[in-house]
Amino acid sequence: MATATLDARTTDLFRGVHTVVFDVVGTLIEPTPSVARAYQIAGRRQGVELAEPEIARRFSQAWARQEAADAAARPAFSTSQQREHDRWRLIVEEVFEWVPQTAAIFAELWDHFGRPEAWQPVPAGCRLLESARAAGLEVAVASNFDERLKPLANLVEPLVGIDRVFASSELGWRKPAAAFFQAVEIRLGRRPDELLLIGDDPRLDLSAARAAGWRAVGVG
Ligand SMILES: [Mg+2]
Repeated sequence: MATATLDARTTDLFRGVHTVVFDVVGTLIEPTPSVARAYQIAGRRQGVELAEPEIARRFSQAWARQEAADAAARPAFSTSQQREHDRWRLIVEEVFEWVPQTAAIFAELWDHFGRPEAWQPVPAGCRLLESARAAGLEVAVASNFDERLKPLANLVEPLVGIDRVFASSELGWRKPAAAFFQAVEIRLGRRPDELLLIGDDPRLDLSAARAAGWRAVGVG
């Protein structure tokens, strides 16, 4: 465990903050192996061979298509447990688009990313989490994620011990919607200016949180 020391920059960062809200994927945890490698293994189990770079390319495209679909939804970025499930099914179907076994590949990947061993801690995020705790601040996580997040948070470091865990599927909104941040404010009972978001995505985390009146800082 990293030793938490509050340097001047961190002290300044936390001034006036009540709760530090962390993004999850890319901020506190990341997939291990990579998403492309996990897809490759799941495909291979169904007799489908696809090179990792090709999977990565197709995944980015499919991901962007689903992001665009959420942006085009009315209201924009509204979501649900069903939508979060469908998003991943549609991404798998697009990555393996000519393959008849997509249902089996999807089922395997859904289970895979719900297992603690599919994730590893992000050291930079862990250090900021330790600093927030050392400063006596409340910590929470808020993520574009689904019903797998809470069970994972009970098992995967450094999420263990964080009891304020918010997933878009349950909030009904995805980042970057302002309504996502407002839903978190209500759950925490805090004003936007008392909240600091730490995340890895300039658009979904940092710009979106600032637009909602929060403070925000990148994990890197
Ligand atoms: Mg992220």
